[in-house]
Amino acid sequence: MTRTLKEMQRRGHEQVMFVQDPKAGLCGIIAIHSTVLGPALGGTRMYPYGSEEEALRDVLELSRGMTYKAAAAGLNLGGGKAVIIGDPRTDKSEALLRAFGRFVNRLNGLFYTGEDVGTDVRDLETVAKETTYVGGLSREHGGGGDPSPITAYGVFQGMKACAAERWGSPSVRGRRVTVQGLGKVGWNLACRLRKAGATVIGCDVDPARAKVARDRLRIATVDPEDIYGVAADIFAPCALGGAISELTLPRLGVEIIAGSANNQILSATVAEEVFRRGILYAPDYVINAGGLVNVYVEMNGYDQTRALRLTQQIYGRLRNVFALSRELNVPTSVAADRIAEERLGALRTSGAVTKAA
Ligand code: NAD
Repeated sequence: MTRTLKEMQRRGHEQVMFVQDPKAGLCGIIAIHSTVLGPALGGTRMYPYGSEEEALRDVLELSRGMTYKAAAAGLNLGGGKAVIIGDPRTDKSEALLRAFGRFVNRLNGLFYTGEDVGTDVRDLETVAKETTYVGGLSREHGGGGDPSPITAYGVFQGMKACAAERWGSPSVRGRRVTVQGLGKVGWNLACRLRKAGATVIGCDVDPARAKVARDRLRIATVDPEDIYGVAADIFAPCALGGAISELTLPRLGVEIIAGSANNQILSATVAEEVFRRGILYAPDYVINAGGLVNVYVEMNGYDQTRALRLTQQIYGRLRNVFALSRELNVPTSVAADRIAEERLGALRTSGAVTKAA
């Protein structure tokens, strides 16, 4: 058995497709982790990977993560991901994107893709010239547009679930919330928090972004390195992954961690330590599922009301995660995985797909 097959077996992948088109300069991998719940959905990442192994590891890990995310969000979707090996600044072309689109099309709806690191909505519109199995398009192209406001809405719902769990009331009025990263999601979240009567202290590595936030949102900002030490009730990581590490955790004085960033806790060991310290953590893939919900809704003809209604369910889903975490005395991240696995396992046994809410 080849190493690739072994890696697929280890993570439970159904199918991995290596694609190349020398004329178009395309070299990539499409990984379908699971179609148990529905078609595999996942973004297309373009990145100058140092080796094929590196690209394969990334696509296998990311596609597996998508299966869990969709299952935990209660959606009838499976998990997939695609990677294109190359520098998005210099190697991207219409020919490459269209060649990639033709490969996606060959999968005949088993795999739906969208934007990710190194690709944007315009690139996906190019891919969509060759295939209809593309989500996250602009409103003009029949899509749901930028998912960030929906993601922020979901994070806000998740924060309320955390508040209810920790303080017995979902209200965030009078609470102090630190927001790391005032980009598309962090900005929208800060707006909602301000409206709900919370005090927001933000930061951004881009000083111009921090200034606009001070001026327009009328929030206080601190230097990015100082955000961990700010006295607050809730920390919302909305920048990059790995924000909570062995180094930053001891500096955090908050009771709740609830934000949009993917992989915000650096490792399982750090997640254990978060739990041991009694900090309530909203697992990233549960709380940030609003963007995925938005694409899911788009697949059946976009309807914003439905997207918001499904995203609102993040509140109840997190309450279930917290209840299981209490019952089993395990970190919330472990409880979330159990819930996702249960849904996947139950369907594998019965072979039936339940109707999404
Ligand atoms: P974005 O690029 O618009 O915003 C990120 C912001 O964080 C930028 O303004 C950047 O300058 C800032 N930043 C980067 N490193 C920082 C640091 N160390 N300290 C402070 N600020 C820092 O991205 P986004 O769309 O708002 O997404 C934010 C996070 O949420 C990402 O991790 C993304 O993967 C995740 N996410 C986003 C969505 C979505 O719908 N946009 C959905 C799910 C998950």
